[in-house]
Amino acid sequence: MSTTQVSTERLEAITSSILQPTAANGVQGRTAPFEEVIGGLTALITSHRAPGTEVLRFPPVMSRALLEKSGYLKSFPHLLGCVSSLTGTEASIRALVEGRAAGQDWVDGLAATDLVLTPAACYQVYPIIAARGDVPRSGVLVDVESYCFRREASSELGRMQAFRMREYVCIGAPDTALAFRENWKARAEELATQLGVPFTLVPASDPFFGRAGKLMAVNQVEQALKFELLIPVNSEEAPTACMSFNYHQDHFGNTWGLRTDDGAVAHTACAAFGLDRLTIALFATHGLDVDAWPPSVREALCI
Ligand code: ATP
Ligand code: ZN
Repeated sequence: MSTTQVSTERLEAITSSILQPTAANGVQGRTAPFEEVIGGLTALITSHRAPGTEVLRFPPVMSRALLEKSGYLKSFPHLLGCVSSLTGTEASIRALVEGRAAGQDWVDGLAATDLVLTPAACYQVYPIIAARGDVPRSGVLVDVESYCFRREASSELGRMQAFRMREYVCIGAPDTALAFRENWKARAEELATQLGVPFTLVPASDPFFGRAGKLMAVNQVEQALKFELLIPVNSEEAPTACMSFNYHQDHFGNTWGLRTDDGAVAHTACAAFGLDRLTIALFATHGLDVDAWPPSVREALCI
């Protein structure tokens, strides 16, 4: 085994004992050691919070109308999960759930509600800040976290359907948002070094839907809008994206009417940390026994 090649036994142990598999693919219970590491990562990320940053925590659901307006549906319809519920009279609902509705399964009676499962933490932030009025050119900073859902096609280790995403978001002048993103790219490399994980930081693209989406992905890479910090988990050839650093230009600014105090459309950027993926990457790199992890890593995580 080379220094960065993770053994199959270790990966299997993470899948079956550090995480608790369930009947649903990509949906796992988190064990005490896993949560201990998540707690350490959370505190480490918090220690990098800039003064004046607003903190917002969200439940795993959000307004469907808000997500539609943000453009998610056009770009990632294949990943979206919508909350639906039974509607109708008491008699019709009872017939459905008791299997007495001729030729109808209870799921046939489901209707979409006004809620979707949140696919990325930062979507909730932009309309909230926009509703407050102009932002300073020097930027508004928000620390946000949410459980997120994505209807992922594969369930390889680290590709979950439900996972925690922590983000720092910046809304301000174009040079403010871009500088924030560049600053976080550099800090992320320091963080990964502190955590003792092998990593690369590379230009990346989002998994846009369909053939037109491929063009959008190429464009995203050409314009250097997204970078990912990758750590080997399943293989060295296809390392796993554990953090991402995104410059959205004026996309959310235009969508939500976000303006800086000089009247220009605000630009936005975010630094996103996949807490579950980072935790998996730590177990994959350092082994199953947290007590045996390198002292410097345990110190960084305060565990
Ligand atoms: P990928 O390229 O692996 O599909 P992504 O580029 O879509 O990921 P982002 O939208 O940038 O990911 O999400 C921010 C972070 O959330 C990622 O860096 C990753 O750590 C985490 N994340 C994304 N998808 C998943 C998932 N299915 N399971 C666990 N964590 C995830
Ligand atoms: Zn984001």
